[in-house]
Amino acid sequence: MTQVDPATGILDTTRPLGVYVHFPFCRARCPYCDFATAMREPIPHAEYAAAVVAELSARSGWFRGARAPDLQSIYFGGGTPGLWRPEAIGGAIESACRLFDATGPLEITVETNPGEVTTESVAALRAAGVNRVSLGIQAFQDHLLAAIGRKHSVAAIAAAVHAVRAAGIDNLCADLMFGLPGQTVDDWRHSLDVLVALSPEHITAYALTIERGTPFGALERAGKLQRPDDETVAAMYSAAHEVLQAADFEHYEISSYARPGRRAVHNTLYWTGGAYLGVGASASSFRPLADGTGWRFCNPRALETYLRSAAARKGNPLPAKIERRTAEDLENEGLWLGLRTCDGVDRVAHARRYGRDPLWFSERAAAAEKCVDAGWLSVAPDRLRLTATGFLFADEVSSRLWLGA
Ligand code: SF4
Repeated sequence: MTQVDPATGILDTTRPLGVYVHFPFCRARCPYCDFATAMREPIPHAEYAAAVVAELSARSGWFRGARAPDLQSIYFGGGTPGLWRPEAIGGAIESACRLFDATGPLEITVETNPGEVTTESVAALRAAGVNRVSLGIQAFQDHLLAAIGRKHSVAAIAAAVHAVRAAGIDNLCADLMFGLPGQTVDDWRHSLDVLVALSPEHITAYALTIERGTPFGALERAGKLQRPDDETVAAMYSAAHEVLQAADFEHYEISSYARPGRRAVHNTLYWTGGAYLGVGASASSFRPLADGTGWRFCNPRALETYLRSAAARKGNPLPAKIERRTAEDLENEGLWLGLRTCDGVDRVAHARRYGRDPLWFSERAAAAEKCVDAGWLSVAPDRLRLTATGFLFADEVSSRLWLGA
């Protein structure tokens, strides 16, 4: 019987590490949002900070081998972690750096929303060690922001960007969404143009997805959510590629664009099979093992369950889900994640990590050939890569190349 304990097995110490801290609180719930969020007034800043720091301490040993891992990033996601008191964020940063002996420069990101930041609040984050801010801008039309239930206005966006810059943060990521109810291709192009003029270092442009359990999911099932059709959404995706590449952003992952040297370190860890320790309600972790297998596990999603379990078990909450990933699972995932990036899959590096060239399997080689014929995939002696059209069919390509599906 498989031993269901993610602390067992010898850690693969060759992989870099990222720490993810989930802060679940938001001022209000957006009707499309499926993340683990909680509305509490007042926010229990200190109680939540204590739980997160205790969890970092309890689980850091699972991610340390004989020597400290190469900690490369700390990411505060949510929820809206920009609402967390800066001293709480600073405490979590200090703990992670101490527990993993981090001395070098790390990417330390906090997500927040326009309308919820001031120059003073960002300056306090900066003083706590944060060097990257991710702003949930989403659109530059007030009627579209209202349509998706966002609480900020277009006027608040420029003010937020100004606050980030005034506080000395030189690494700004901006999120934009397309495929919104009532959005036209012209609206989308306008949002891209205005955002480019604000000069962020990184842009994430992603399509609205409708999740079943959300108010938008119910509206869609009732036929009351008027969204652009698939062709228009594809045109929006292509417009983002065209506008942002022309503005010297590198399109380095399906939804991600960066100025030279400003790719997201934390997300790159996910796409390249790095280890990650996720703390806080609903946070997921991946602990790769030296034998080529690994553990993936996540914390309880409900805030109260997480806090109760963390307190009762000395900072080590009972995971809500634990999966032992076999070497075959991880090989499939490595290919799937690599194909999300414009670098694609380096065949030599893949063979070094997983023991075989990705096209060694005849079943997959045949599927890859069909994807090449469809114009979705390029196969070179050193690399597999999605084509520009292939990015639109990334899930389809991945499922065809997934062995044992
Ligand atoms: S602000 Fe973000 S995390 Fe919070 S409810 Fe809206 S989409 Fe979800």
